[in-house]
Amino acid sequence: MLGAIAGDVIGSRFESFPTKSTQFELFGERTIFTDDTVLTVAVADAILNGEDFAAALRRFGQRHPNRGFGSSFYVWMHNAGAGPYQSWGNGSAMRVAPVGFAYDSEEEVLREAARSAAVTHDHPEGIKGAQAVALAVLLGRQGAGKDAIREQIGARFGYDLGRTLAQIRPHYAFDVSCQGSVPEAIIAFLESESVEDAIRKAISLGGDSDTMGCIAGGIAQAHYGGVPAELAHAVRGFLTDDLLGVVDRFARRFGC
Ligand SMILES: [Mg+2]
Repeated sequence: MLGAIAGDVIGSRFESFPTKSTQFELFGERTIFTDDTVLTVAVADAILNGEDFAAALRRFGQRHPNRGFGSSFYVWMHNAGAGPYQSWGNGSAMRVAPVGFAYDSEEEVLREAARSAAVTHDHPEGIKGAQAVALAVLLGRQGAGKDAIREQIGARFGYDLGRTLAQIRPHYAFDVSCQGSVPEAIIAFLESESVEDAIRKAISLGGDSDTMGCIAGGIAQAHYGGVPAELAHAVRGFLTDDLLGVVDRFARRFGC
């Protein structure tokens, strides 16, 4: 899941200062890890411990509260009795990569992706966004080519993945909906040549940069078979020990 975390970390400084270019320094003064990383790690921890997704999301959210959480999630994470709130935001898609790495069948991945989403994002688009990203990770891991990923994810979820980044970029702006950011992040992966390139291309659309980098980076890690050591080392330097502990346990357990 370090590919997803790399996308969040690299995209973090562009969330409020979007760019339409792929040519930028990977890290800068404002580079941090954000909610995307915190909740991706939470989902991984829930899987490792066989724990309820909601409990893990709340625990990690409360441990790292100042990381740019959406306001609805922020209220939810501080209220143990709160139920889902019909969100179609891309928060369900940004945290789901570990599901695609941990489970080996399409059925399990779709089921667990839906479960991880539904504790907050129980709107059909929120569920769909999580399932699409998790399934793309699984397909990538299993060696499905990009054409197969484009076709299967497009057909199953009704996303238009036939567009190019060059077509999307001029008109694209900040969009936190699953339906308005997941397909575009997947297209960034489909046009990429490496993990770093997928993240750069996702950020270059000028939208919700950290989340789009996170989504594209997670799928790219699966497809390209890992995160290059130098990039992994640099990204790990931004994380706290509790997050790194889960990242490493997850990597050992699931070989990613
Ligand atoms: Mg974020």
